[in-house]
Amino acid sequence: MSEEKFDAIVVGGGLAGSAAAYTLARAGLETAVIERGTACGAKNMTGGRLYAHSLERLMPDFAETAPLERRIVKERIMLMSGSAATTVEYDDEAFRERAGASYSVLRAKLDPWLAERAEEAGAMYVTGIRVDKLLQKDGGVCGVVAGDDLLYADVVLLADGVHSLLAQKLGMKKALAPHQVAVGVKEVIGLDEKTVSERFGVCAGQGVACLVAGRPTGGAVGGGFLYTNRDSISLGTVVTLNHIGGGAGVKVPDMVERFKASPAIAPLIEGGTLLEYAAHLVPEGGYHMMPELFWNGVLTAGDAAGFVINMGYSFRGMDFAIESGRLAAETILRAKRQNDFSASCLSHYRTLLEQSFVMRDLRHYQNMPALMDTRQIYNEFPALAAEIFGGLFRVDGSPPKKPAKLIGAALRSVGLTELVKLGAKALGTL
Ligand SMILES: Cc1cc2nc3c(=O)[nH]c(=O)nc-3n(C[C@H](O)[C@H](O)[C@H](O)COP(=O)(O)OP(=O)(O)OC[C@H]3O[C@@H](n4cnc5c(N)ncnc54)[C@H](O)[C@@H]3O)c2cc1C
Repeated sequence: MSEEKFDAIVVGGGLAGSAAAYTLARAGLETAVIERGTACGAKNMTGGRLYAHSLERLMPDFAETAPLERRIVKERIMLMSGSAATTVEYDDEAFRERAGASYSVLRAKLDPWLAERAEEAGAMYVTGIRVDKLLQKDGGVCGVVAGDDLLYADVVLLADGVHSLLAQKLGMKKALAPHQVAVGVKEVIGLDEKTVSERFGVCAGQGVACLVAGRPTGGAVGGGFLYTNRDSISLGTVVTLNHIGGGAGVKVPDMVERFKASPAIAPLIEGGTLLEYAAHLVPEGGYHMMPELFWNGVLTAGDAAGFVINMGYSFRGMDFAIESGRLAAETILRAKRQNDFSASCLSHYRTLLEQSFVMRDLRHYQNMPALMDTRQIYNEFPALAAEIFGGLFRVDGSPPKKPAKLIGAALRSVGLTELVKLGAKALGTL
């Protein structure tokens, strides 16, 4: 058993961990990152779209070397009911400007790239070792047990993802409740670059993001997602743990099959080859599931801190992970200057988060999880859209229905009071 001392130890070489390690190492701190996967990115999963603003703040020239798949230029929201799909597509030249740019990414490429940047800056990565225990002394954390080695540090950053068993062991975080987490299943389907562009109606380098409610989860709370990569398509489903077995009783692995087989999706992936299959939990409780963010000698960032927002029409976790990792590192650098790693000094992390988009957006959308937990969104709404548009577009020789009558009848079938209530809830939330 060997012993070593660092300025900072980061547990987890995902986006939060490597963003922190990059910031710390660049400032000259001796930083070790312990990652349980055989390589960074090996254990990680995302749907597929990175809102690039926080990566740009971390590394202004990121676009020159980062393994970005396609720049998202079209947004699609799809409501699926039976064999019907009602799609809203948003596409605007101005939307493609750099500010607010987002890209499809693959974690198997993005995470190693960011880890390499941190290594170049001087961080040391140890992969293939899981940290099961934190070392404590004088009422605070002073290091980690990594395999047979005892690694000491002034401060430890827990960037160990959604479970963060280490934060749970410290009492900083409660065990995950089923309504706070969703299970995501994803496939990456290989197609050649030209075929992807042609099928989605975009030029080379441009991409599409598509979020889907209804059929993929059999009406259970959750949805489908699809992102175009350079020469592949990432698609999958996400369903909240407490709704598994609900809806049409579709099993989680069958949800992806159901999604792929739907008439609106099948032609887009036809002839593709399965390249990757993965499943992962995602924290969806937002602001209300936030754990203690710091204690003596320790901080949490990224999914470990529950920094994710699912708004139905967009999904964000990676931008929060990168920014919170960077802000945790800024806090550590300040603590180093003051040679004070107490909870009181590390509370500066909370101040930085409060001043950033992280807390602002989490607080702004704090009631989103409750809104997204509304079953009508995944059942009645897709059916309503199908009924209205199916009626409007049908010309079969039968007497025409007045659009107003058609829409009125469809709305009444869902229940006007219910709709008004939901509308008010949505307005209140947004
Ligand atoms: C299905 C799905 C779809 C998503 N879609 C999107 C999207 O489109 N856009 C978006 O922005 N976000 C999306 N997210 C969320 C996003 O992927 C996460 O918020 C992001 O990955 C969090 O990064 P992280 O670094 O905090 O955690 P992770 O990426 O989970 O990294 C944690 C790291 O810690 C390591 N680790 C864990 N425990 C230990 C230990 N004890 N010892 C050593 N290492 C350990 C893990 O191996 C891992 O490398 C999605 C998530 C899922 C599951």
